[in-house]
Amino acid sequence: MHRLDLLNAPIDHLTEGLEEFVPAGERHLLVVLPHPDDESFAAGGTMARCSDANVPVTFLCGTYGDMGRRMGSPFFATREAMRDVRQQELRDACAVLGAEARWLGLRDRTVEFEDPHEVAARISVHLEELLPSTVITFFPGHAVHPDHDSLGHAAHLAVQRFAGPRPKLLAVAVGDRDRIRAELGPPHVYCDVRSVVERKLGALKAHRSQTEMMFQRWERGDEEDDQTRTFREEMLVLERFYRLPLD
Ligand SMILES: [Zn+2]
Repeated sequence: MHRLDLLNAPIDHLTEGLEEFVPAGERHLLVVLPHPDDESFAAGGTMARCSDANVPVTFLCGTYGDMGRRMGSPFFATREAMRDVRQQELRDACAVLGAEARWLGLRDRTVEFEDPHEVAARISVHLEELLPSTVITFFPGHAVHPDHDSLGHAAHLAVQRFAGPRPKLLAVAVGDRDRIRAELGPPHVYCDVRSVVERKLGALKAHRSQTEMMFQRWERGDEEDDQTRTFREEMLVLERFYRLPLD
């Protein structure tokens, strides 16, 4: 579907039964995900909508993303330079989204080997300082990559044990949608991102080393399977989250 048609089409069939995320009701949005670019894919529209509503937004990025498979297309970065490249890309993306970028300083691709309680303690420092009303992370066990699952688990622990005013904890599930629905049921919350779609795309483009090939494929109109097309179309109109239960 053409982008304008997509943005003008009704989305009721996608949001039925889901609670709408209302940025104006928020005090501070904290996003905790392991890699530069996770924020733009998973929650870039929600971040931009919060910043438009004058809600402070912080992205706490777990790693520097310097062990990623993609190193630019055409190849433009050495492994040694990757950390600087990806930090700058993330700063640029966060500038587009109106968010502050922070780093937890974990090692890329090894988050699963960290002590989750120790990682949770490091996240807690930011919870205490920022007192977010909502935290967004990955759904532990349903986020495809071990770094995603592990940081989601640590963020859940951190919010769970937080002694201050407890934020809502929203989680992003990744992967085959039918399998996710079968395992988790439908998501609980959606954020309509159509009004900020250009910024979401701008933030994704800022992660050039990771997304340039994807945009080239889209712009060429390469053939894509149904799942890829649905993912691409839906990411331009809404972001969906599960509420993670807290004891
Ligand atoms: Zn990631």
